[in-house]
Amino acid sequence: MTDIFDKIKRQKLKWFNTFPYPAQVIVYILGEDEALRRAIPDHPEHDEGVNGRCCWMKKDGYNIITIGVKRDLGDFMAVAAHECYHAMNACYNWFGAYHDNENDEPGAYFLGHLVREFTICFAELTEEKNNGENS
Ligand SMILES: [Zn+2]
Repeated sequence: MTDIFDKIKRQKLKWFNTFPYPAQVIVYILGEDEALRRAIPDHPEHDEGVNGRCCWMKKDGYNIITIGVKRDLGDFMAVAAHECYHAMNACYNWFGAYHDNENDEPGAYFLGHLVREFTICFAELTEEKNNGENS
C-alpha cells in the first residue's frame, strides 16, 4: 500500500523527526516546491509575499509538518526560527504539551533541535540544487 510517506521518500524530500514527538518535518525551498506538490497534492498554496511557511497535517496516520523558507534570504535564521516555533506549537497541540515559563528548558531544547535539523536539511537542499542535482 502506498501511503504519504512512500510518496515523500519517492520524491526524495528532505525530512527529519521531531524527537521526542512522533512527527516528521519536511523541509523545502519556498517557491521551489514541485517535489512537495507531487508528494502532497493538496498541500496549501503559499502566499507570494512571505519568506517562510509552516503547515501541519495528519495524513495516513502520520503527523506531517512542512517548513519552506526562501533561498538566499539575508534574514534566514530569523525566518527559520519563526517557522520552527510554529512547528513546535503544532507538536505541543497534537501531543498535549504546553509552555511552562517556570521550566522552559524542555521547550528551549526542542526548539533548538528543530532549528538545527531544519538548517542542516535546508543547507543540503540548496547545495544539491546549486550542483544541479534534483533539478
Ligand atoms: Zn508565522
